[in-house]
Amino acid sequence: MSTKIHTHSFDEIIDKNWPDGFKKTRQRIDIYRILFEAKEPLSAAEIFAALNSASDSSRDMYAFSTVYRNLLAFEKAGIVTKSVLSTEDNNIYELKQANHRHYAVCLVCHTKFPISTCPLHEIAHEVKDSLPDFTITGHQLEIYGYCKNCKDVTLK
Ligand SMILES: [Zn+2]
Ligand SMILES: [Zn+2]
Repeated sequence: MSTKIHTHSFDEIIDKNWPDGFKKTRQRIDIYRILFEAKEPLSAAEIFAALNSASDSSRDMYAFSTVYRNLLAFEKAGIVTKSVLSTEDNNIYELKQANHRHYAVCLVCHTKFPISTCPLHEIAHEVKDSLPDFTITGHQLEIYGYCKNCKDVTLK
């Protein structure tokens, strides 16, 4: 017995989350799909690699500059959030969600472990109280250290 619940199709989700007036191209939809299916934030290079490995022979290859340009457009349109982690050489991107995620990052293997809650919620409320004219659009939080596997190796 399958207990899988089909809530919304990808088409419904993309229709619901696509900003009004934001041009819908096949490339943008493909990038959105990669980010949608990703389990963790991806760099532009990882998105680029995923796009070109997923494409069948009937498709054209994507240029890296195109991917990068579309990610900038996504960021401006508020579709993605961009983060900078000290363990990564590049920015990482993920879809903006109602429940955003933070990660603890391993300094050795660079694995990102999602944190179930946002520890900054309280602070955001305080900022709102002390700076009522300031519009908060987001925040970043970086937690780093050693994962279980790397801790053993590092401390031996
Ligand atoms: Zn590790
Ligand atoms: Zn947060």
